[in-house]
Amino acid sequence: MDYQGKIYRPPSEARAFILQATLGCSWNACTYCDMYRDKTFRVRDLHETLDDVREAGRAFGDQVNKVFVADGDALIMDADTWQAILAACRESFPHLRRVSAYATARNLLEKTPEELQRLRDLGLTLLYIGPESGDDVTLKRIAKGASFDDHVKAADKARAANIVLSVIFLLGVGGVKRSREHALASACLATAMDPRFLSLLTLTVIPGTPIATLAERDRFQLPSVEGLLAELRSFVAGVTPTDAIFRTNHASNYLPLAGRLPRDRDRILETLDQALAGNVPMNPEWMRGL
Ligand code: SF4
Repeated sequence: MDYQGKIYRPPSEARAFILQATLGCSWNACTYCDMYRDKTFRVRDLHETLDDVREAGRAFGDQVNKVFVADGDALIMDADTWQAILAACRESFPHLRRVSAYATARNLLEKTPEELQRLRDLGLTLLYIGPESGDDVTLKRIAKGASFDDHVKAADKARAANIVLSVIFLLGVGGVKRSREHALASACLATAMDPRFLSLLTLTVIPGTPIATLAERDRFQLPSVEGLLAELRSFVAGVTPTDAIFRTNHASNYLPLAGRLPRDRDRILETLDQALAGNVPMNPEWMRGL
């Protein structure tokens, strides 16, 4: 298929067939995000999307076991559109194991429980959602468009439909001033959302974004590397999901960590303490990316 603009997908979807059923992000307002600023949001013509699925099915359908539906919050599509896409994926990819997409809390809250259940039954089994912070002050400042409580309700809805969640938080997004509150409230929110997958990224202030303008005016300050590690430590010490697969392996991070939480908490904290003491090498700046 002909992809339009840059395509973003989670690291765990590296081997998935990326189906661009929407262009951009329907919200497109988060102050730190520049992923879709150059795109005006729209749902692609359904016939074109279905043609892309069938064409991929003819070309390499046997090799596809995962489909990631792009772009930034593809769950915004109405349930009937999703149903048609999921049915076409099932027909075209005989070894399909899962379909996933990025979602916002709003996307989930706008769907009825019955719609979510229907999409789950048709194969939409995993959603990636990035509250970024559990701190309501920070969530307002970054224009996330949803609060702590909204994210908890959204996660509850997904869980009720048996849709697995991969939840993402963003180190540094509270700035120096809200660093501690951001870390502690994020741990609370991650606990309340209780996802199967939990990851943290590190904020990169990208020129041209509203948060970069604030930084230029000295109204936002990214914590130091030590400050970011301290946030990560507070988060890991405070979060208590039932059993989450935890990763900080995104290229934006200084310290890649992996394990299960809460099971591996002590080991992860020990690594973090060693890193804070300067005994563990961290990713140098040149190795970091978005
Ligand atoms: S919801 Fe996601 S893709 Fe959309 S603006 Fe916010 S961070 Fe960017």
